[in-house]
Amino acid sequence: MTREDEMPDWEGAQEFYAKYDPKDILGRGVSSVVRRCLERKTEIEYAVKIIDITSEQHTAEELEEICTSTVQEISILKQVSGHPHIISLKDCYESSTFYFLVFDLMKRGELFDYLTEKVSLSEKEARCIMRALLEVVQFLHSKNIVHRDLKPENVLLDDDMNIKLSDFGFSLQLEPGEKLRELCGTPGYLAPEILICSMDENHVGYGKEIDLWSCGVIMYTLLSGSPPFWHRKQMLMLRMIMDGSYNFDSLEWQDRSDTVKDLISHLLVVNPKDRFTAEQALAHPFFQQYLVEEVRHFSPFRKFKTIIWTVLASVRIYYKYRRAKPLTKQVLIRDPYAIKGIRKVIDGCAFKVYGHWVKKGLQQNRAALFENSPKAFLFSLGTAGDHMSEEWLE
Ligand code: ADP
Ligand code: MG
Repeated sequence: MTREDEMPDWEGAQEFYAKYDPKDILGRGVSSVVRRCLERKTEIEYAVKIIDITSEQHTAEELEEICTSTVQEISILKQVSGHPHIISLKDCYESSTFYFLVFDLMKRGELFDYLTEKVSLSEKEARCIMRALLEVVQFLHSKNIVHRDLKPENVLLDDDMNIKLSDFGFSLQLEPGEKLRELCGTPGYLAPEILICSMDENHVGYGKEIDLWSCGVIMYTLLSGSPPFWHRKQMLMLRMIMDGSYNFDSLEWQDRSDTVKDLISHLLVVNPKDRFTAEQALAHPFFQQYLVEEVRHFSPFRKFKTIIWTVLASVRIYYKYRRAKPLTKQVLIRDPYAIKGIRKVIDGCAFKVYGHWVKKGLQQNRAALFENSPKAFLFSLGTAGDHMSEEWLE
């Protein structure tokens, strides 16, 4: 090896710094940091993901893996950039020590933080977000690309609250019929077949269907504020995932439609063959509402029917209101959380006060904020992990 070969290659880094001025940190990952940056010439703001490929915190093998997955990430981003709901890669620089990936800046940040701020979303808002997300998944799967890390932290929001999917660090383009075995992703969003195949050598492996499972977890979380699979003991949480053991029993689900629950239960299906595809999910009645925005012209009969329905509904509401039990001090003291209005205030206050403790990754302690036991909540504040690793299962 000549001396020249040993010299680090700074060219990519120099080019990046000549064109951009990096500013404050927007987010951090295992081996990357994302910063706001200014394009010097235009003063337009962007986000740059700086991936360290020399860090002493990693072994040579891990660094090799980071390099390979970054090259993969860039190649996939170049293929999918341009889709209205995918983050667009503007520039990309490579040196022997760092990769610099420049993206459009998503000023409203992560869907994760938006949810923490709002506690839970309405069906209308969830419909809008999930339709866009499923359209992206449909687009990726049509190219045989599997994302493998769908979660609210990787869904970003622009100024107009449009979603853009980001973080293609675990994404792969599959050969037709190819199956995967690698255990990767984020625990609460892992599909059962990923876990099962990591424990069973004879398992056929997993495919694109895992993204639809994660969509089900995201949708459940958006609507109830709390994840479907969560237990303080990690092994028990994994067991819940593998058994597909979740329910719509919590109070938050009382006001949700059967239509939305039906869609979620077609996504959170343990057998990937029986799980909805993105096309099937988008064709579900949940997405057929509020699609047509043009002015509707109703026939006189339809108008008459609507009036009758309105009158009947008003009468029902009136009688229900008359029958409603008055809110007494005793009811309030006995179980304040059972009263919808009060419950909303309590949850809202909990998230306002403790929302900054809701950590990402391994311990989905968002769930603990809904638990009526202070012990469970305090326990969950202790630690927070990140992506899935083999050791995690031990
Ligand atoms: P990692 O692979 O390390 O998770 P991500 O690509 O997910 O990296 O970025 C980490 C975090 O940085 C995101 O969760 C988000 O908070 C922030 N971030 C990433 N890209 C952007 C962007 N274009 N605009 C604003 N924030 C971003
Ligand atoms: Mg990420």
